[in-house]
Amino acid sequence: MLSLSRRSRKEIEERTAYIRRDFRLRYGDGDELRQRKFEAQSGLCEICRDPLQDSCRRLTNLDHAVSIYLWASWPEPIEEAAAFANDERNIVAVHPSCNTAKGRADIMEFLESLQTGERKINKPRTYTPEEIEEKKKSVGGDFVSVKITAKQRDGLDELSRQGFNISHLLRKIIDQFLERHGLPEVEEVKK
Ligand SMILES: [Zn+2]
Repeated sequence: MLSLSRRSRKEIEERTAYIRRDFRLRYGDGDELRQRKFEAQSGLCEICRDPLQDSCRRLTNLDHAVSIYLWASWPEPIEEAAAFANDERNIVAVHPSCNTAKGRADIMEFLESLQTGERKINKPRTYTPEEIEEKKKSVGGDFVSVKITAKQRDGLDELSRQGFNISHLLRKIIDQFLERHGLPEVEEVKK
């Protein structure tokens, strides 16, 4: 177990945001990395060991084995913390539901708690080939594109990791945006 430093909450938030930016700089949207991890793990989730079924982002998440939160809390300078956090060896491919269940925990600690029965995760759903196709189509699909600030996005990421269903929160942000700015331009559907 990593010991946490006495960094302030604000400091940890800023460092978390830095690590997320660093991740985007290194891996962009993460599609290539996700594919590599999917193949390296023979298509199995690093947490529950069940098949991931497909490497698309809707079915496979990239997870920091030692969580960003823990790296952000560490005493190391931020550049170093980011380099460790975003090192490919610290990234694993997992089911979105397993990712949510793990939350901020360190992966070894989490796997142990699953073994001892201290924690439980639901068995990930098995999708039919048709459902997988539907999921893929919905990636970057018909969404109305609304710009949210990096801070809002990090906040939503955090809530999502803590197990909140963020879609209604996103909806709220979109509604607020629409109230202020009217209907934004609709982005082309990305395939
Ligand atoms: Zn899993």
